[in-house]
Amino acid sequence: MSKPISGKKIFKALCDEPTIILACNTRVTKGTVKGILRAAKDTDSPVIIELAKSECNLDVGYTGYTPETFSKAVKKIAKEVGHDIWALHADHITIKKGTDQEIEETKKLIKSQIESGFTSFAIDASHLFNTNADNEKEQLKENIRVTTELAKYIEKEIKSKEFGLEVEVGEVGKKDDQGMVITTPKEALTFITELINNGIDPDVLAIANGSSHGNIYDQAGNLIEQVSIDIARTKEIVDVLRQKGFCVRIAQHGITGTPIDLIYKKFPHGDIIKGNVGTYWQNIYFDVLKVHNPQLYDKIWKWVINKYKGSGKTELEIFGKRAKYAHKEFFEEIYAMDKDMEKNLELMAYSHALLFLKAFKSHGYAAHVRKIL
Ligand SMILES: [Zn+2]
Repeated sequence: MSKPISGKKIFKALCDEPTIILACNTRVTKGTVKGILRAAKDTDSPVIIELAKSECNLDVGYTGYTPETFSKAVKKIAKEVGHDIWALHADHITIKKGTDQEIEETKKLIKSQIESGFTSFAIDASHLFNTNADNEKEQLKENIRVTTELAKYIEKEIKSKEFGLEVEVGEVGKKDDQGMVITTPKEALTFITELINNGIDPDVLAIANGSSHGNIYDQAGNLIEQVSIDIARTKEIVDVLRQKGFCVRIAQHGITGTPIDLIYKKFPHGDIIKGNVGTYWQNIYFDVLKVHNPQLYDKIWKWVINKYKGSGKTELEIFGKRAKYAHKEFFEEIYAMDKDMEKNLELMAYSHALLFLKAFKSHGYAAHVRKIL
């Protein structure tokens, strides 16, 4: 019961269902993962636990985890909880240049993720975009080439097509002088068509649709809600994919800061089928830490402000955006949390996960996945 199942099983089972799968980047595993998995179990919801390459890699990402140590920690908790429908996902396997050397380095990371038991992968070559080309296929040529090569590599190493595959077109949070850059239906369709022509079977597509990763702030440095996601465009993109008969839906990145009632009422459940929530769990961790261990909170606060000051931003904004880098630095102290704090963190994660699972309308959908296992 402790082992993650193939991400493809979860995505394919829910391709035509009006639900969103909660995907959590748990930078602090202790307390948090248990709360999330318990909420998923109690509501019979599928769930994904993930970390991005920047958060977790062979050199220890900023969470202090390698794929092996992260996988071990999560699987141990999953065994205690006993929830069966969950996947372990490698978020943002980012390729920024597309050079042979970068691709070879990335394959080493993927190999270790596979050996550590990851069951789903997000190849992110969205940075490779040729703005000088005059049609979508040429603009996306490098992204298509690199995504194809790495997806084939995963297939070869796993020795089957039984793994979740997320691909990315349009960089999440990218801005130009006109504001947020938004993916077009033509770009999404061209990208997915070319990948399928290359023998790749993507399940979910990350697009640029107006969200940004992490906490967001106004000009004065106040934390603000995120209401910038272009829902109409997101639906248009899925419509063109559906018309072609492709079982590929949207992975929504950067959900932290989005009002949960807006997700419940306005998100196109089933067009978006994966919802990534990351910084939100980190915010909860710090809220709990503030009360249970103010000394450590102050120490982390000072370290973050001291390291990242000088940007002209308020301390609140600097901390909100940069505190993620403290996980590795304070790993030992973070994981030395006492039982009281661990329990409190678990219950906070449990209750917030329950709210997300309700807003994502995912109750009972673990049963749909179970049917095809
Ligand atoms: Zn993301």
